[in-house]
Amino acid sequence: MRDAAPNTVYLADYTPFGFIVDDVSLTFKLDPNKTRVKSRIAFRPNPEATDKTFFLHGENLKLISATIDGQPVNTEQTDDGITCPVPDAPFVWEAEVEIDPANNTALEGLYMSNGMYCTQCEAEGFRKITFYPDRPDVMATFTVSIDGPHPVLLSNGNPVKTSEHHAEWHDPWPKPAYLFALVAGDLVAHSDTFTTMSGRKVDLNLYVRRGDEGKCAFGMDALKASMKWDEDVYGREYDLDLFNIVAVDDFNMGAMENKGLNIFNSSAVLASPETSTDVNFERIEAIIAHEYFHNWTGNRITCRDWFQLSLKEGFTVFRDQEFSADMGSRGVKRIQDVRM
Ligand SMILES: [Zn+2]
Repeated sequence: MRDAAPNTVYLADYTPFGFIVDDVSLTFKLDPNKTRVKSRIAFRPNPEATDKTFFLHGENLKLISATIDGQPVNTEQTDDGITCPVPDAPFVWEAEVEIDPANNTALEGLYMSNGMYCTQCEAEGFRKITFYPDRPDVMATFTVSIDGPHPVLLSNGNPVKTSEHHAEWHDPWPKPAYLFALVAGDLVAHSDTFTTMSGRKVDLNLYVRRGDEGKCAFGMDALKASMKWDEDVYGREYDLDLFNIVAVDDFNMGAMENKGLNIFNSSAVLASPETSTDVNFERIEAIIAHEYFHNWTGNRITCRDWFQLSLKEGFTVFRDQEFSADMGSRGVKRIQDVRM
């Protein structure tokens, strides 16, 4: 359990992390109460940092094993994380931890919702999945391997390999851990494609529970309109082969812009002409656009620390307001925005 008293953080105390992360490889063996997560993380000393303390965030993690360059290490674990002596040269940290997604009712990190696994890592949820420097100025490429009994196993980036009960993903773009995502479940996809301004075909999927397939068409059209608008207005082209959105019933936020794998509260993406109002449609179009626009403003260009949250959110809100103005009535949109 955490102290109720929040920890005060001062901007003036910011220092860069002592190490650069070159690559992250994660392996998940999914189990409701005993999910095993193996991490293999390549570190090297950060020449710009004066503080060379090796400390990895971690909360509610049961440590199974930890090695550096293949050799077991003596670690010191606290409620907040883990530390150990490290070489003053590039090294590989490997750890295995066990987590309990079924009892994760905070809905941060890896948790379960109606039998499906999903994640929420912004702002500091990744430290509930494995030990890691969980701060936005540490960016790395991720390869993720998932073993689970579910027909759909998703993570960030492009698919590398998919077979029954196993999937591998690679995200070629360095990202902070708060953009990590994993989804596993018995889901169905509403699929489409988008051809970018340079002629690349991108596969698009909106994953929903069985029975919700008929509520996807509007969201998919909004996604394609957003992709086109960001090209036309900002010259920003989508940068992966695939863009997935997953609708989840239990979700703390409206939606989350995880790289290539947006996770949405069902209410923020599903709509049908029979039961949804004009206001529902406008809201869904704006949220889908907002999360998609984060792909550049927030994800590729990210924050140094959480004091900069308003930079990515302010700019992306401005972009979704402009998009909504272009899609509908600019005058009505402006009145709505200034009245909120
Ligand atoms: Zn946002």
